[in-house]
Amino acid sequence: MSDAAVRALALERLAEHLRGCARCPLSEGRTNVVVGAGDPDADLLFVGEAPGANEDRTGLPFVGQAGKLLDELLAGIGMTRDQVFIANVLKCRPPGNRDPRPDEIDSCRGYLEEQVALIRPRVVCTLGNFATKLLSGRPEGISKVRGQPLPTEFAGVPVTLYPVYHPAAALYTRAMLGSLQEDFARLPAMVAGADPGAVAAEASGRTDPASAPAPRGATAGAGADAGAIPEPSTEQLGLF
Ligand code: URA
Repeated sequence: MSDAAVRALALERLAEHLRGCARCPLSEGRTNVVVGAGDPDADLLFVGEAPGANEDRTGLPFVGQAGKLLDELLAGIGMTRDQVFIANVLKCRPPGNRDPRPDEIDSCRGYLEEQVALIRPRVVCTLGNFATKLLSGRPEGISKVRGQPLPTEFAGVPVTLYPVYHPAAALYTRAMLGSLQEDFARLPAMVAGADPGAVAAEASGRTDPASAPAPRGATAGAGADAGAIPEPSTEQLGLF
């Protein structure tokens, strides 16, 4: 059996274990554990925050509006989700989509570490604040570090950490869509092994469309009904 096949099998065993996890009280309210999905040997791993209602119902990551936008962003760089792996900081849905709590993140962290150790991605693209802070171990928020690749180690695996805005943020603040597209455009080179320092240098000359005020009522156009979504503040969303 090839090394990749052994790791894929171990990942499936981890998924089976996770489906019975009762490490934290979130297990009591879940319909499904959202383990993650994609290529178990992917060079690119996305890490989101936590499952929402759609993900809890289906057991799959990013299947709602934010997932639709993620698919569009991937398509924009010529990729599909079966070429990457998509996971979350938390594997179970927090009630009412509230922010993950520190004790929940601590309980679940080992599972993400095991996923990284088994998948061995070259690039870990963190979506939003929670994943970025967990993977970087630093307090800087996503608005400060987005688009800046950071060579680091997670679970003993050397990776390029690449923080970007959470796609859900772009559903509410149209200007962030430009930033996300800009940041996604650098992913193929990074995944192909480009020096993160060179990518960072190129990125430092950028403008940040997300820092410009968004037109009132603007939406990301991520789906036909995106305009129907009310606009909570980004602080309410806990995304920055
Ligand atoms: N948002 C996330 O962070 N993860 C999902 O799986 C879905 C929405």
